[in-house]
Amino acid sequence: MEDEEGIGEGLIPWSIPVTASSPNANSSLVPKELENDDEHWEYEIGQKPRKPNEEEDEEEELEDRYELEIEQSVAVFVDEEFIGRNTIPESENEDEYEFYPRDRKRKRSEDKLDVGTSFFSGLEFKEAVLQYALRKGQNIEQNRWDKTKLSFKCAMKGKCKWRVYCAYDEPTQKWLVKTRYKYHSCTPNGKCKMLISPVIARLFLDKLREDGNLMPEKIQEIIKEKWKLIASRNQCQRGRTLALKWLHKEYAYQFAHLRGYVSEIEKTNPGTSVVLETIPNAAGEDMFDRFYVCFEKLRTLWSGTCRPIIGLDGTFLKEEVKGILLTAIGHDGNNQIYPFAWALVQGETSDTWLWFIKQLKRDLKLGDGEKFVLLSDSSKGLISAIEYELPKAEHRRFVKHIVENLKNKHKKKDLLKLMVWNLAWSYNTTQFEEQLMKMQDYSMSLYDDVMKLEPKKWSLPYFRLGSCCEDVDNNATESFNATIVGARAKAVVPMLETIRRQAMVRIAKRRKKSLRRQQRFTKYVVKMLEEEKEDADKCITTPGTHGVFDVRLSGQTYDVNTNRMTCTCGKWQITGIRCEHAYGAMIDVGLNVDDYVSEFFSTNLWQQTYGESISTVRGPRFWMKKDKYKLVVEAPEPALPGIRKQFFVGKGVSNKSRLRRKM
Ligand SMILES: [Zn+2]
Ligand SMILES: [Zn+2]
Repeated sequence: MEDEEGIGEGLIPWSIPVTASSPNANSSLVPKELENDDEHWEYEIGQKPRKPNEEEDEEEELEDRYELEIEQSVAVFVDEEFIGRNTIPESENEDEYEFYPRDRKRKRSEDKLDVGTSFFSGLEFKEAVLQYALRKGQNIEQNRWDKTKLSFKCAMKGKCKWRVYCAYDEPTQKWLVKTRYKYHSCTPNGKCKMLISPVIARLFLDKLREDGNLMPEKIQEIIKEKWKLIASRNQCQRGRTLALKWLHKEYAYQFAHLRGYVSEIEKTNPGTSVVLETIPNAAGEDMFDRFYVCFEKLRTLWSGTCRPIIGLDGTFLKEEVKGILLTAIGHDGNNQIYPFAWALVQGETSDTWLWFIKQLKRDLKLGDGEKFVLLSDSSKGLISAIEYELPKAEHRRFVKHIVENLKNKHKKKDLLKLMVWNLAWSYNTTQFEEQLMKMQDYSMSLYDDVMKLEPKKWSLPYFRLGSCCEDVDNNATESFNATIVGARAKAVVPMLETIRRQAMVRIAKRRKKSLRRQQRFTKYVVKMLEEEKEDADKCITTPGTHGVFDVRLSGQTYDVNTNRMTCTCGKWQITGIRCEHAYGAMIDVGLNVDDYVSEFFSTNLWQQTYGESISTVRGPRFWMKKDKYKLVVEAPEPALPGIRKQFFVGKGVSNKSRLRRKM
């Protein structure tokens, strides 16, 4: 994906700069080409411009909308920050808002209609004009519809000359703005001729996806409030009905073509593991059951350059897609997320988790799990799946969910959250025991319940060494969920495509960033060291033999061993980045601190992680072919966790005949 900043700049040799400097510029400043308006409309002889036709707009190709939507969600992608460290996550009810994209501005220039601006489709151009009309509250109307040409003009009566004309350009295969007059001499009157029902439908498509109960009155109100424009209740009603119709059509349509999508991925990204499983229904159709993808490049780069940590998460999708998105997320050398596999399943059950883990095990060669660290919530299905497939893996539980669990029973214990987190963050067994004692003093019943939740599964001192990761929180999966919030409401293929495209943009952005970095280690490590510098400077070191040092800080003594890269505080072994004590010793005896950081955090390896990307998958026109692939139908009802089997049995598909069909 090209950088948004570059779009439409200096590309077009025939671009006609609009040189007028103010809205009241006199006509002598208007570019010559625009003086004689009519020649730009190029109506074919004998053909009059047609009037707007809602019916025809309604027939807009689904593919066009599909592409536009994905482009839009990729354009607002903002790279995820470092995975938060040592910060207690917000509680459940607080974070619903967190899922919504924060101030995600497009970097494109304010005015997207300048001469020379390019669009990948006519629909994208129309969308840009619409956004202009809405933003400025101007009354704009379309006055040219053509397969390769579109134009809009000011719809106000009088002499207002505002107009824009865009045409398909064969050599670049893009739509280019060819002429433009950017000034209005009219006064807006709160109406906009572009605001016909198909347009309202498009504007409210995402909102209706998430909330099918959004009523026409409310739509009218939002239009008034947001754009200061007036739309009739009837128009809003028609727009709403149309949007719901589109959505329904779109969901079914997208499911239908999943096989084509799978085959397109295999073609464009050889070596990628992509699995589609269906179940035959009573009518003999192939009913969707589950989908999984792990792109070859993501898999090999993760395996070759990232720490052996896998965050696992299941997220509900919205409304009609009815399902759960399962994801596997890695951490790069800069401690930013690296999603490398995702799946769509009907429900979060032990069966689906087992299936997902099996795919990961095969693709990433996880063996029995030894050397790998998995992080997840405490859902029973997931725990048993991991125990079964990866018995030797270290499976850490998200402390946030432990806290929420405990809170249900201990509502009034204000210190609960802090105490549980402090317990989880103890770097050594002494600290761990101390925290437990504090908890006993605070509340015996809380202590008892904490012990039932196996604190050794989510506290640092009991973690296996070598993973170079101290995480016990779900910040990584939440960070990913915040990025895909828009995608979650989309129909199945656009959702999967959005996630894939976002992965590509993420790689491109970080690739640039990593190549610019000169230092030996990533910013994440350097920042961590800076935080420890103050304490390190206060350390008093007594050197021993064989790389062993006695280090004193605030009345405590620590044994630092630079040969083994350990400290009795425990932090160094766990994080792979030396602690303040080891740092202090190195400063005192003149060792090069950089020689004692895990290579996982080196800039070199970080650059390698982003050295390659997923290959482009072509648009739906190339693979949405009815005659080529057998169509897939949706499962008729959302399959709720746990009732899936009965559900299928009830529908006349016995367990025995639930033979899954792969592709
Ligand atoms: Zn005007
Ligand atoms: Zn230490």
